[in-house]
Amino acid sequence: MAKARILLADDSPTILKVVGGILEQEGYEVVTARDGVEAAEKAFQVQPDLILLDVMMPRMNGYQVCRLLKNELLTRHIPILILTSRDQPREKFWGLQTGADEFISKGVGNEELLRLVKAFLARGSSVRPMRNVKVQPLQNVDVLARANELLDRTLYEATVINEIGKLVHSLQDYEETVRSAMLILHKLIDYSVAALALTHGEEGEFFVQTWCPEITEEDVLALKEHVLGILRPYLDPAMVPPQFTTRLLNSEGCSRRKGERPLPLDQLLCVPVKGKGTVVGVFAVLPQPGHSFDQGDEETLHLVVTHAYAVIENAWLYEEVRKLSMKDGLTRVFNRRYLDERLEEEFKKSMRYNKPLCILMMDLDHFKRINDRYGHPVGDLTLKRVMECTRETLRSTDVVGRYGGEEFLIILPDTDSRGGTLVAERIRQRVEQCEIRVDEAEPIKVTVSIGICAVPRPEINTPAQFVAAVDMALYEAKRLGRNRVQLYTPELSAEAEREVAAGAPQKDCPGQKVQPTGTGGGGGC
Ligand code: GH3
Ligand code: MG
Ligand code: MG
Repeated sequence: MAKARILLADDSPTILKVVGGILEQEGYEVVTARDGVEAAEKAFQVQPDLILLDVMMPRMNGYQVCRLLKNELLTRHIPILILTSRDQPREKFWGLQTGADEFISKGVGNEELLRLVKAFLARGSSVRPMRNVKVQPLQNVDVLARANELLDRTLYEATVINEIGKLVHSLQDYEETVRSAMLILHKLIDYSVAALALTHGEEGEFFVQTWCPEITEEDVLALKEHVLGILRPYLDPAMVPPQFTTRLLNSEGCSRRKGERPLPLDQLLCVPVKGKGTVVGVFAVLPQPGHSFDQGDEETLHLVVTHAYAVIENAWLYEEVRKLSMKDGLTRVFNRRYLDERLEEEFKKSMRYNKPLCILMMDLDHFKRINDRYGHPVGDLTLKRVMECTRETLRSTDVVGRYGGEEFLIILPDTDSRGGTLVAERIRQRVEQCEIRVDEAEPIKVTVSIGICAVPRPEINTPAQFVAAVDMALYEAKRLGRNRVQLYTPELSAEAEREVAAGAPQKDCPGQKVQPTGTGGGGGC
């Protein structure tokens, strides 16, 4: 068997002589170097099986040599043991960052030194040589130039990572974080379209950001098909979301004329997005027309995607938690807290811009009977189903939430009383058709009564008055027989006032014009 070859680098002739002698006695072939540059040159030229490096050496120190060799394809797999007389924690930390395989104190005895050398020769470095790649030893390498290049590359990477890291502190929402990450990438790679498919939610997401050329809806669809086609084979079939919601990150993007050439999808550069070691998505970029990406672009894409995903996932988790805190656990529509805030906001907007705003208060008819007859769990299921049916009839800008018990408030921005009445009637009919299936038994049917009120109205000046008014309309719908919709009119208010004055029994009904009734307002009437 050929003798193992060891490169020993130290600026002390004594050490070279003593340690070199011990190694030779043991049967190793020893190559020596007296400074860092010579050490790197010899490593490239003679391809040793193991390197023993001193730290303090002229021209280049041991750490710099180690970092360089561990970043070169030709030498990265060679075990490097650093001989050091310093044992400060930060020295060790910095040394480890260079990729050194082991630190040996200069005070160590010969036996221990030989044991470590033997062990690392047998074990090799944790970095394995590339299989099937035949690398030729390099002669006359400009080591200093190579070290400078490496330094520059490392600084570039650290700067990019730092830029991405800043996103964490800017407290942006999820979509804004994805957009910002893409903007950072755009500073580094001249792409025309970027797409990101992610699977971390119940539904997948497909983000598209375009520069030039702008793309059409057909382009987005084709791009989505293509990217998801690349992603799917990586995913556990059980984990593939049923659909991917498309989110266009610059809405002005979709203005390309129809009939132009389709996107050159064969030029897409794709990298997998990994979360906890498994593929959770794909990031894809398309070059500018007439251009193509080079290896530097590919490396940069990998770098950005690897680091940006951690930030994007954080923003997503944060948003998920925020959403959960706004939702009702049973029906998954918004909760009372969110409704109160949102109504306040929409009311102010409506006042400021003199825009119509309509709200609906909906209450299940004779719901108590369902609980009494089928039990509370079936009652719960009924509430869930009724909300599913209701949501099917609403627009994405409409807000629906559980106001209390079996009462739901629906906020319809930019909608007047006519529009609101149409929506209410549509919901009423949809719920009437809704079947609640429990086991094999006959499906349960329910109906709802809905109060409607729209502003601007002279007598309604606060969100509380607004809710009181819609509650009165709901009360009227109940009074007139249930399973119906009822628009608020000032007469209802006057009537309620008369009832109060006459001392009519209030039950749980709204009577005062300006008082919010809270939960159970009209339902018990
Ligand atoms: P009306 O047509 O007048 O509205 O009659 P109702 O029976 O629906 O009205 P009432 O206010 O008397 O009863 C409401 C019932 O809703 C009583 C309450 O137990 C039930 N309820 C409220 N919240 C829940 C819930 O989360 N789950 C279930 N199963 N029942 C609920
Ligand atoms: Mg009810
Ligand atoms: Mg009620």
